[in-house]
Amino acid sequence: MSGFVFSEKPIGIERGEGAHLYADDGTEYLDFGASYAVASVGHSHPRVVDAVKSQVEDLIYVQASYPVAARTELYEKLATVSPPGLDNVWLCNSGTEANEAAMKFARNATGREKIVATRRGFHGRTLGALAMTWKDKYKEPFEPLAGGVEFVSYGDGEELAEAVDEETAAVFLEPVQGEGGIHPASTAYLERAREVTEETGAALVFDEIQTGVGRTGTLWAAEGAGVEPDILTTAKGIASGLPLGATVCADWIADADPEHGSTFSGGPVVCAAANATLDVVVEENLPTHAADVGGYLMESIEDADLPVREVRGQGLMIGVEVKRGANRLLRDLALEEQVLALPAGRTVLRLLPPLTIGEDEADSFVASLEAVLE
Ligand SMILES: *Cc1c(COP(=O)(O)O)cnc(C)c1O
Repeated sequence: MSGFVFSEKPIGIERGEGAHLYADDGTEYLDFGASYAVASVGHSHPRVVDAVKSQVEDLIYVQASYPVAARTELYEKLATVSPPGLDNVWLCNSGTEANEAAMKFARNATGREKIVATRRGFHGRTLGALAMTWKDKYKEPFEPLAGGVEFVSYGDGEELAEAVDEETAAVFLEPVQGEGGIHPASTAYLERAREVTEETGAALVFDEIQTGVGRTGTLWAAEGAGVEPDILTTAKGIASGLPLGATVCADWIADADPEHGSTFSGGPVVCAAANATLDVVVEENLPTHAADVGGYLMESIEDADLPVREVRGQGLMIGVEVKRGANRLLRDLALEEQVLALPAGRTVLRLLPPLTIGEDEADSFVASLEAVLE
């Protein structure tokens, strides 16, 4: 008997601490992927562990129609730390569900159907979010998907302005494209997106499932750009690995009273993990730390004079465009240097380390990259 869908790597992981994972044979790995940015405050952070333990002992689950302290605290915390005007929180269990909710909420509030999304974009794999995802390989076997999605080039403000009209319910954007190869948007582009959605009455949705929770050097990439969306979705790094997604909305979206639901919405245990994670991120000023260490890491890779085409990114969301297949390189890094990272397409190495790494760990990563590229 075996699982399917995921192809497994030949490293059995037993334990994690900070930016390190330990295999069942005792080997220590430096984790610069954080399992797709999930281990934002490092693996098994003691404050998260304590919060989860204590919540499990009190109550594992009660449905969302009964207020429970951990969930109420997370509603308030998320509304407080979200960009201004985003005070209404819907909780779910994954990134793709947060985007499904955003699609439904935007269609409901506008009474419109059309969605504008971007080439190279990634928004998840359920049939609605998948319709907004660019890659044909992910979509074609499962068609027909949700209708009414139009794609525009990422970064082209004028093409966006032409595509968005009075029939558009929402524009979905990643402030930095992750899966598509680590491409940061310019502030001017995000501002233009805000302008055209405001003019036409469409909702501007920032998918911050990968960029959120401090990853790009501010708590949200929206904050860094100074652009306020109508809906922000987040997941990955928010609860240190317990399954949680959130769709945070402006009043005009929430006031339209969307009919939606989910049995597991905001269970107390995942909320406790998210509260502790957000507390660590905010109290330890990890967004600023991510900006500093991320800048240092990008510079170090550039200065190392390695055979790479480009280094790009924001904070600790970094892409290294290499001149060979990224997957082979990642295998060499793991097996020869005990360093784990991720791909973003065929030729891009994607770095999403825990936000807690120091310059010593950045140095160690660059030395390993040097070793395998030589
Ligand atoms: C990972 C990701 C998703 C999907 O999240 P899941 O939790 O895997 O469903 C959506 N959008 C972006 C930008 C992502 O990085």
